[in-house]
Amino acid sequence: MSSTHEAPAADGSSSTYGSASTINVDNPATGEIVGTIDITTADQLAEMAARGRAAQPGWEALGFAGRAEVFARCQKWIMDNKEELIETIISETGKTYEDALLAEISYTAGAFKYWAKEAPEFLADERVKTSSPLVKGRKLIVRHAPVGVVGVIGPWNFPMTNSFGDCIPAMAAGNSVILKPSEITPLTSLVVAKGMKACGIPEGVFQVATGDGTTGAALIDNVDFIMFTGSTRTGRKVAVKAAENLIPYGLELGGKDPMIVMADADVERAANFASYFSMNNAGQVCISVERVYVEAPIYDEFVQKVTDKVKTLRQGQSTGPGSIDLGAVIFQPQIDIVEAHVNDAVAKGAKVLTGGHAKREGGRFFEPTVLVDVDHTMDCMTEETFGPTLPIMKVDSVDEAIRLANDSVYGLQASVFSGNTEKAEAVARQLQAGAVCVNDCQVNYTALEIPMGGWKTSGVGVRHGAPGIRKYTKSQTILVTKFSFGKQDMYMHPYSAKTTNMFAKLLGFLYGRGRNKSQ
Ligand code: NAD
Repeated sequence: MSSTHEAPAADGSSSTYGSASTINVDNPATGEIVGTIDITTADQLAEMAARGRAAQPGWEALGFAGRAEVFARCQKWIMDNKEELIETIISETGKTYEDALLAEISYTAGAFKYWAKEAPEFLADERVKTSSPLVKGRKLIVRHAPVGVVGVIGPWNFPMTNSFGDCIPAMAAGNSVILKPSEITPLTSLVVAKGMKACGIPEGVFQVATGDGTTGAALIDNVDFIMFTGSTRTGRKVAVKAAENLIPYGLELGGKDPMIVMADADVERAANFASYFSMNNAGQVCISVERVYVEAPIYDEFVQKVTDKVKTLRQGQSTGPGSIDLGAVIFQPQIDIVEAHVNDAVAKGAKVLTGGHAKREGGRFFEPTVLVDVDHTMDCMTEETFGPTLPIMKVDSVDEAIRLANDSVYGLQASVFSGNTEKAEAVARQLQAGAVCVNDCQVNYTALEIPMGGWKTSGVGVRHGAPGIRKYTKSQTILVTKFSFGKQDMYMHPYSAKTTNMFAKLLGFLYGRGRNKSQ
């Protein structure tokens, strides 16, 4: 194994580099080095893209049924090898067994099944009827052709779901894929690549390019679509580079998800959901509950219940199912951000009801933390914390809660708790977020039928549902005119006053009738 030294990563953060061309990967729960990866160079990426481009037509020609057969084997492989995958995920993330099983293995196996089944319908040729008088009677078809080679860049919080997960619909659409996992958690993708090969994915259809931001940037220069999941800051850079290359892109970015608890809510349920969905995956979920607004009449009871629950959480290194509730902070600089948000809040008058401290020796952990007496002058209420903290704010009305929830540059996801689901749904419609749950949180992500994507600076485009696969295609319109339409159309040369006047009358009939004034 290479010796380690600190070097700046391309995104300005710091990573542990093995040598100029390798990166060491550590276990955040122990600090132990668990692997070393190569940094893929721009030249190597160009070679990978050439391989992907050569393999793509054959993969496309296999058709949906042929690809579904390969996907069925991949789905089974994920389940048959789940223990090796979970062990690898835990070794590079320090998360719990449950966070790996329920949010990564389950999602990926389900995604193979879902896209194999739905891709043929979502991407089937569409027969279109037209209202254009010039085209009436023609056969009009819209077909969805694969873009070619798709690049996927992933973050470190879910090395399977948020990296490989996006490769599945891209491949289902008939594309080759190059995945650039996060340099912090690249090992899972390498195990997955081994599995895909064993399942018969043709050579070159799925490739993994390990490396840091430089590799990610080079990937954008070599693909026909770039799918990025990560921070808003990096997302902007990806969008600029994609624009320079004139390639389409999808961005799934950061969030600051609010929860609103209305006075008529089931307080016990709301407290359970607030404490679980702010602390699962140690708060490192893009759709974590990051802040809560509670109506005054139930505020004290809610805070008490949440604090009692969070105090019981067991934090540490996972040794298997049920061993801990909360894992480590995966990315080393993230622990500083979490600590800074807590310190900033306390300096401005917030109170810590439980937790509040970082532990950096023998692993990276931040205590599960509940904050009260918070407001929007504090970073913990306006910036993405991405750690195991839950700031709770008292509000006088639902309107105030809505205003504060929308007081954010982000718009990824939100939740509303109320005993009256009609009222809560009306609140949901006023929230500026790509997804809103009523009396629930996060589980919408597991329903692959419904689109998931951020508003505002939380993203561009969506994953899941029909738009989640059509984005990996380019539409081609085919217009077919049968010979029976004759040798020539009426609108052609030579122009004559008679036919032109006839067309003018037709246009008047089609578009010129109706009211002139609005009533
Ligand atoms: P990040 O933006 O630092 O890095 C993401 C990826 O981008 C990494 O693979 C990195 O190597 C690569 N990268 C860095 N610079 C690049 C560049 N100039 N060009 C191309 N690629 C580059 O994000 P992160 O810290 O790994 O992940 C945490 C963030 O991801 C949080 O903000 C979280 O909310 C977000 N996230 C969003 C979703 C979602 O679905 N919306 C899901 C998971 C995580």
